[in-house]
Order: sequence, then C-alpha cells, then structure tokens
Amino acid sequence: MSIYKIKCLTTNDFYIGSTNNFTRRKYQHRSHFRCNVKNSCDKLYDFMRLNGGLDNFDFSILEEFKNIIKKELKIIEQKYIDELKPTLNAIKSYATEEDIRLMYCKGSSKYRIKHPDKIKAYGKEYQQRRYDCECGKNVQLCKKSRHEKTAYHISNIA
Ligand SMILES: [Zn+2]
Repeated sequence: MSIYKIKCLTTNDFYIGSTNNFTRRKYQHRSHFRCNVKNSCDKLYDFMRLNGGLDNFDFSILEEFKNIIKKELKIIEQKYIDELKPTLNAIKSYATEEDIRLMYCKGSSKYRIKHPDKIKAYGKEYQQRRYDCECGKNVQLCKKSRHEKTAYHISNIA
C-alpha cells in the first residue's frame, strides 16, 4: 500500500494518489493517459497533454504502509491532499465525518494495538474532531452516538 506523487518536471504541478500496487498503478495511469478514457484523473491527463506528455512527469512513492486496509489508506491519502494541496487532483479521495468516526472512534482500541505509530497519530487527530450538534452543543465526533442519547440532546431538539 502506498501514497504516490506524479509531478510535472517543468511546472512542479503535482497529483497525489494511493494504490496497493505502485508499479501496476503507474502503468494504468500511462495507459489511461494514452487511451483518453474518461475518469477521475482527467484533470491530470489534460494537464499532461499540455505539458510535455508522460516523459515530462515523475512518478514517485511518498510513503509506504504494511498491513493497513484500503479505507485507512484513503484517509491517509486525503490527509496528504489536505496538507500538500496538489494542483492536479480533481476530486476528494475520501472521508466523510461518519467514516472517520467509525474508523477511529469505534475501533480505536483495536486499531491502537494493531497498527503502526503513524496510523495512531492520524487517528488521534481525528478523535479530537468536534461538530456542532443540532441541539446547540459542540460535541466530540467520537462521542456522537453517546451524546445523542443524553437528556440534554433529546430535550433540545424539537
Ligand atoms: Zn445534540
């Protein structure tokens, strides 16, 4: 499992993606670029066409992971996208608040044992996320279901 980057050698514009097989994904990008198929990477391929084609782009791995599931990889990919702000990604790769909650809050103790430090760190950050509930309280995302059973919440939603 890895997070990878495709960078334009002349403009430094770049794309970030994730895959469970970097070599295969690399070829897939190349063939999609050539066949002109419509997909979520259109922005990248259009940019490639205007900027020297495949030879002018560098494919590299940013980070590799072992023993993680696809859903976790997607969350990490989104984190990279949020932080590095790639110019050639068109769509959000992942992460509704609900998915994050299920991944890091409900299974937190299990994941803490199973996964490397890095994943733990990402999880911790998400665990601290809060949201404004319709009852007027600001609640920790992880405590959403518990909060929704409280008398305060129930009596304050009409
Ligand atoms: Zn509430």
